[in-house]
Amino acid sequence: MKRIHVVAFFALFCLAIPIVAQMPQEKVDLDAIYRIKDEGLNRSQVMDTLSYLTDVYGARLTGSPQIRAAADWAKKKLTEWELVNVNLEAWGPFGRGWTNEKFTARVISPSVNFPIIAYPKAWTPGTNGPIEADVVTAVINNEQDFDRFRGLLRDKYVMIAAPPEVQAQFQAPGRRYTDDELVNISNQPVQPPRGGGPGQRGGAAGGRGNADNFNQRRLQFFLDEGVIATVEASRGTGGTVFVQAGGGRNPTDAPVPPQVVVSVEHYGRIWRMLEKKIPVRLELDIQNKFFDQDLNSFNVVADVPGTDKADELVMLGAHFDSWHTGTGATDNAAGSAVMMEAMRILKATGLKMRRTVRLALWTGEEEGLLGSRAYVTQHFADRADMKLKPEHSKFSAYFNVDNGTGAIRGVYLQGNEAVAPIFQAWMQPFRNLGMTTLTIRNTGGTDHQSFDSVGLPGFQFIQDPIEYDSRTHHSNMDVYERIQAQDLMKDAVIVASFAYHAANRDEKLPRKPLPAPQPQRGDASNR
Ligand SMILES: [Zn+2]
Repeated sequence: MKRIHVVAFFALFCLAIPIVAQMPQEKVDLDAIYRIKDEGLNRSQVMDTLSYLTDVYGARLTGSPQIRAAADWAKKKLTEWELVNVNLEAWGPFGRGWTNEKFTARVISPSVNFPIIAYPKAWTPGTNGPIEADVVTAVINNEQDFDRFRGLLRDKYVMIAAPPEVQAQFQAPGRRYTDDELVNISNQPVQPPRGGGPGQRGGAAGGRGNADNFNQRRLQFFLDEGVIATVEASRGTGGTVFVQAGGGRNPTDAPVPPQVVVSVEHYGRIWRMLEKKIPVRLELDIQNKFFDQDLNSFNVVADVPGTDKADELVMLGAHFDSWHTGTGATDNAAGSAVMMEAMRILKATGLKMRRTVRLALWTGEEEGLLGSRAYVTQHFADRADMKLKPEHSKFSAYFNVDNGTGAIRGVYLQGNEAVAPIFQAWMQPFRNLGMTTLTIRNTGGTDHQSFDSVGLPGFQFIQDPIEYDSRTHHSNMDVYERIQAQDLMKDAVIVASFAYHAANRDEKLPRKPLPAPQPQRGDASNR
């Protein structure tokens, strides 16, 4: 038995040797990692930072007074930590700012009064004081429906769709990735070739455009008919309400009526009473404010300067902005606090870094990666023409955190095969914190794409989902309590170590071939 084992092991060993010999071993500084872990795990400030960004200054909708106050606080904190070149770098135009200053909502029926869980959509107007009025239903799905409801909706609250069906939550709302799921993520999916067949991409995109058009016409109809406000049910259950924008940011955008989103349980209760021909009255008081003095926004930047390669750059970033109903805890105070903490750790340890490490906290991410795109265009290249600026050649890597509160389990390589052996080596000391997985896959929807789209190495980490999709992402329950403190502490340590190693590596990180210019068709991401 034993002997067979030894032989098998020997055979394996012989096989392994040539593979290892092909790759020069990437250097890992275990002494630095010890100090980073010591600072980040024993003297963490990440939850204090998070509490300020959420409890005190949340939510942080781009263009609102709250995000400006949050940024001023961050600037003060980063300066206190002795980072340098701490600035709010203006970009724009973003459009009008918006905030909700007061909101109350209650139902008044013949039998009972009750408050409802509801929120106005961003960039919608208010009611100019409390208004009590009848609730009616008007489900408009086609051309004939416009005629059915014409003349019937003036001075009414209008429910615009039947309540969605609510299922029991047989699956736990929060989870971590299993080993099997991580193996699955690490495999490269191969897409079927794109053709013109039915159900392929072209057709689907057309359908979406038509749906947006119809939605726009319906809003215009409700406005023309003189409704007080439209009322719709949120997806999700348990009092969780998911809310984004309902109107445009440009002062010249088409006007829209006031719009509120209601928890499915309260929406259903009103709907079922109306089905029984029981009149229901609603009282809403919505005070929303637009800000059109300054149409620009800003990114928060701060540096730890490098030594002999100080003109070269490693960047850490996260989007600072959020939606408006919770306090933007998992999306994305978590990422912002992790990145601020990583910078604090690097500074507090006093570790020497050859390249400059720069923090950037973006705004306008929720409206289409606007802040990071503006920064990349200004400093590195415009993806529309791909004319490279001098800083493009001085750039090593960008690391991003924007997938909620979850522990880092690995890195999406964005198709950059050449960084795999480097990240493999940097990841090795963090296997005991659960970071094990590299995947060649792309991940989308956040700011590393702004770098990737001009051929710069930009990476988002793989993070445990926890309750991101079920509960927190863009919801009123995106709050401090949904944050896993130990995950944020681990994440900050991992990010600090990746930044440290990228800053001290002899070479910059390898790049993919430069992409072709991608001429842009206006900003379609207004909502
Ligand atoms: Zn988001």
